[in-house]
Parts: sequence; C-alpha cells; structure tokens
Amino acid sequence: MNLKQYYFTENNCFKSGKQHTVKGILVHSTGANNPTLNRYVGPDDGLLGLNKYSNHWNTATPGGHEACVHAFIGKLADGSIATYQTLPWDIVGWHSGSGSLGYSRNANNNGYIGFEICEDDLTDVDYFNKVYIEAVELCVYLCKLYSLTEQNILCHSEGHKLGIASNHGDVMHWFPKFGKVMDTFRADVKEKLIIPTPAEPTTEIVIKDGDLVKITGSEYYGGKNIPDWVKNLNWYVHSINSDRAVIDKDENGKYAIMSPVNASDLAVVTATITEETYRIHTVVHGDTLWEIALKYLGDGSRYPEIVRLNDLKSNVIYSGQKLKIPK
Ligand SMILES: [Zn+2]
Repeated sequence: MNLKQYYFTENNCFKSGKQHTVKGILVHSTGANNPTLNRYVGPDDGLLGLNKYSNHWNTATPGGHEACVHAFIGKLADGSIATYQTLPWDIVGWHSGSGSLGYSRNANNNGYIGFEICEDDLTDVDYFNKVYIEAVELCVYLCKLYSLTEQNILCHSEGHKLGIASNHGDVMHWFPKFGKVMDTFRADVKEKLIIPTPAEPTTEIVIKDGDLVKITGSEYYGGKNIPDWVKNLNWYVHSINSDRAVIDKDENGKYAIMSPVNASDLAVVTATITEETYRIHTVVHGDTLWEIALKYLGDGSRYPEIVRLNDLKSNVIYSGQKLKIPK
C-alpha cells in the first residue's frame, strides 16, 4: 500500500471535527471516468499533478454537495497508484447518503470509514488489479487499526440493501467485470489478516559422543533395571549408534561401566563443544526430500546434500526417520 495523508482541511466534515467510533468500512468507487487522484484530491502536492478545474473535494461542499470520504485510491501524476487519506479515520465523513433505516442509521454518521476507488472506463484489467490490491491492503490496515474483521467491510450497494446507504451500485457495477465480488474482496482481506504461525522448529537436542548425560529411564538398553546409584550420577557418553548409547565414565572419573542405554532415556547435562554441522529433521507423513531441502536449505534441488549426509541408498524416506540437514 502506498498510503499518504492529505487532509481536506477546507471540507465541512474536517472542520466539524465530529468524531465517531469506527465499526466498519464502506467501499465506494467514484462512478466517473477519472482515474487520476487529482480530480478529487488537491491542490497539487507535487505528486498528484495539477487539476486545472480545481474541482477537487478540498472545499466546504464539493460540487455544492455535502460530501467527504476518508480516502481516495487512484493514480498519481506519474501513473503509479496511491491511497490518499483525506479525513482522519475517526472523524465522521459523508459518503453513503441516506438509507431506508433513516438518517440516524446512515453509514456516514454511524462509524463507517468510507473510501473511494477512482474509476477509469472500467475496461483496464491492469488498473483494476492495482487499485483492487491497494483497496485490500487499505482494508487490512484499517482492520488492524480498529480491530475489525473482513465481515465489517461493505460496499455502497451492500449498504443500501442493509438500509444504511443510498441507492448506488458501487462497487458491484465494476468488480464483477474482473471476476471479483465483495465476498472475494473480503476473503482477500481475511487472508492477509491471518497471522502466519511460524513452523514448529524441528531441530532437537542430539546426544553426541562425549556429552555428559543424566539417565532419565529406569532400564538399560537390554531391559535390565538400572540401579539407583547409576541413575544418581552423571555419565559421559562413550559412543552412540542410533537409539543405543553407551555410557562409560561418571562425571568424577570414579566409575567406568560401559553400559548400553536407550538414547531417548538420556538428558544432556553438558554437551561436548563441537561445531554443529547439521540439524535434525524428523520425517512426517507426506514429507519429500525435495520439500525438506526447500524448507531448510531454501532450494528443493539441494536434496542430494541430504541424501549424501545421511548415506541414503535411495530417495525413499519414511515417517519417524531422523534426517541430518546440512547447516
Ligand atoms: Zn458510493
């Protein structure tokens, strides 16, 4: 979003300074073939370009009407797309006219932020896509600002059906020409409102030769009970092979037992300081080497590095398999 602030300080809505509590957004489009912002926003700030008729809305009553929106989306003089905020969001605007529920329920004075998308001749897909995305991003921004959801967004014609806006067709005379409706608009806003949850880190502590460990299990690898005095001491790992670890000397060097224990029954007390050269990924159903390489290495085509590091004889992997991933 390319959001700029340019308040209509001459407009009666701005001057009234009447505040509202924002509870929704009303989306409009202008209904006239004037895609440039300077038709509505002025005077020129150096980016908008000159409106030689000076018929912008920064007057008390634009065109003799009570009218003010909170923002316009359209083209700058250089052809790029921008959003110009023209009224503080929490100041009451005038953009929905009067609906069947009466003046007091109008979206104008009932907590709605109204913004206009400048229409062109409604045939330019490139322009449409750009302003559509800009409008989605503006709504995402406003939803976050006012703790709204996509369900709080209506267009003018929907407002009319609800009795809170006058009988205008915007934006539904335009959006469907390019395969969009307000439901797709809301869905697009919703998608951007969802905060992506970071993937669970799959690195895990790996016990290595030389680590000082504590035994958390009660049986040796073969199934015999581990006596309490062994469990009460810390031991150095002599060697480790998959889930079978052999512990040897105790922390104080008093005992040497060379006993096999389950690697999963060990907790690291002090890891030997070695340069970690890989992480561990535990394969889950549906994983492929390509996807794992893409996830960790940023490039699926690097999967042969994983094959090599793990001495894989084929590209077949199985759930639960622990793969070393190069760092
Ligand atoms: Zn409208």
